[in-house]
Amino acid sequence: MRGRYGFARANMLDRPDLPCHSMVMHLETHLAIGWALGNVFPRFSRRQRLLVSLAALLPDADGLSYLAGATAYGNWHHTVGHNVFASGAVLLLAGLLAGRHRMLVILVTQLAFWSHLAGDCFMSGWPVEFLWPVSRQGWMFRPAIRLDHPANIALAYASWAFMAGSWWIWRRTPLEFIWPKLDALVSRAVHPSTLTCDICGGPMSLKRGRVIKGMRLACAECITAAVTTGRDQNGIV
Ligand SMILES: [Zn+2]
Ligand SMILES: [Zn+2]
Repeated sequence: MRGRYGFARANMLDRPDLPCHSMVMHLETHLAIGWALGNVFPRFSRRQRLLVSLAALLPDADGLSYLAGATAYGNWHHTVGHNVFASGAVLLLAGLLAGRHRMLVILVTQLAFWSHLAGDCFMSGWPVEFLWPVSRQGWMFRPAIRLDHPANIALAYASWAFMAGSWWIWRRTPLEFIWPKLDALVSRAVHPSTLTCDICGGPMSLKRGRVIKGMRLACAECITAAVTTGRDQNGIV
């Protein structure tokens, strides 16, 4: 049938029954890779980092089939999102939405997309249907590491740690996609030596200053001034 090692065709019957959380557990690893790829290029904007991160996640959109039950999941996961045509769609979308540095964004989103498919071939234990819907032939690397393998669980935790750690590395985390002001605030807080007051611009410490309206920082002096003079245009009190 096939060798013990190497890249091989795989039968759909090789698909094990997996609980949903195993699939979800793998998502953060894909996201972490996309996040890293988007951040190696300092010229990328938040939107471009989002495009790269989404390209790394997008294949697993077909995992949403789990909502229709385990059988649907078995039929659809690693199909619709995990093939060369989906790669083409990502390429088109990236080209349309990239804005500046279009060629680079296209290239990096493709890298992110294919990092997902490559990861799945090695680390999911589920064949990937690269040519869906033209062919339902699946492919995977053997021996495959399954989703519930300790290596995958370790990778998932490492991904969370890495994404949080990027407050120290790049001064931002994927939180910037959901709540950019909070992300910026935390990022400033983990670099206390460079903290400045958003009102007077002077250096400040979190111990004596505090967070005011709009996720901004006010130093102790500005807070005291607002309290004592009663003049408060900054929403301090
Ligand atoms: Zn996948
Ligand atoms: Zn101040």
